[in-house]
Amino acid sequence: MITLSLAGSLGGALAFLQRIEVLVPLLVGAAVAAYLALRVKKRGEVSGGQEDEVKVVEEVEEEPEEPEAEPEEKRETDLVEVERKVLEALRTKGALKPSPIAASKEGGHYPDIVGAPLAEVEKTLKGLVEKGIALEGEEEFSVVTCPVCGSSAQVALISCKNCGSLRVREIKYYKHTCGYIGPESSFRTKEGKLVCPQCGGTDGIELYHKRYYCLDCKTESDEVNIVFKCGSCGTIYDESNMAVKTFKRIELSREALSEYEKINKAIAAQILKLKAEGYTVERNATLAGESGVLHNFEAVAKKGEEVIAITSAFGEPLMQTLFKLSVAKNDVKLSKIILVSGKPVGPAERSFASSLGIELVEAE
Ligand SMILES: [Zn+2]
Ligand SMILES: [Zn+2]
Ligand SMILES: [Zn+2]
Repeated sequence: MITLSLAGSLGGALAFLQRIEVLVPLLVGAAVAAYLALRVKKRGEVSGGQEDEVKVVEEVEEEPEEPEAEPEEKRETDLVEVERKVLEALRTKGALKPSPIAASKEGGHYPDIVGAPLAEVEKTLKGLVEKGIALEGEEEFSVVTCPVCGSSAQVALISCKNCGSLRVREIKYYKHTCGYIGPESSFRTKEGKLVCPQCGGTDGIELYHKRYYCLDCKTESDEVNIVFKCGSCGTIYDESNMAVKTFKRIELSREALSEYEKINKAIAAQILKLKAEGYTVERNATLAGESGVLHNFEAVAKKGEEVIAITSAFGEPLMQTLFKLSVAKNDVKLSKIILVSGKPVGPAERSFASSLGIELVEAE
């Protein structure tokens, strides 16, 4: 799933992939997949008898990861579409103000971004902040979230301060102007009206205070605890172990955005050129290297034996990108890499790039 979520991103994707904390889960993921494939194969060979083992495999397989029902291609276009919507809102408003949203896993949203799933908007915003196109402003609010799964969908319950039981009854006390104070039950008539049991008056009866009676430990108290039941995973938690998720204003960095768009345009132009030369081009492509490491590129163009990768140096120094690409080029055995830079390219960088067989393109 990591490669997928990065697929829509420019530049930083490769750099991100090459960081060890990304590589490790990826490699672990591959190992788990290989292991599962082996187990499934084994399961086919086992005839009856060893049901325990079969069961284990089934449980592992059923674990709900990310929704994988949609084909990858569709999800990618969706992400590009979400990013377009997010950038559009940012460009128009300059800054996005979050607002809490009830009964949602996410707990809050940015109302100026319309028509996109909350989870994808969140992912996109995070990506834009990582790339420096958007900046996080000050905190606007924080929502309570589940300490186990992070969901904000929950129902609040009252629980006994003494024993923690959820079997708590609310008892309302009323006061009449004549001075009588008693529980609601003493005021309620059979018809459901409120009548003072001391003087028979019906006017001037007010709620005096509330108490809570626990059906389990049989104690009455003025206060209760508030506990939450997670609507996503069912965990019960309270103030002492709840997690908190903070929502901040998101501000646009116009300078970074213009560089980003400049690069995007240049990449689109490169793709058009390659297509005209008879290449088949895939956007946001991932190629596996001989080392087993996956490399992400903005686009990969193929014609016969020839493989050309197109990528950008957005969000990091050009030299750094060049070093990483020299590794990727050998690992994947690329014929050529076209690297688009949004910033002016110096002579040292240009000669280093050409020594590596990387074509440097300056975005205008
Ligand atoms: Zn109790
Ligand atoms: Zn009275
Ligand atoms: Zn949960």
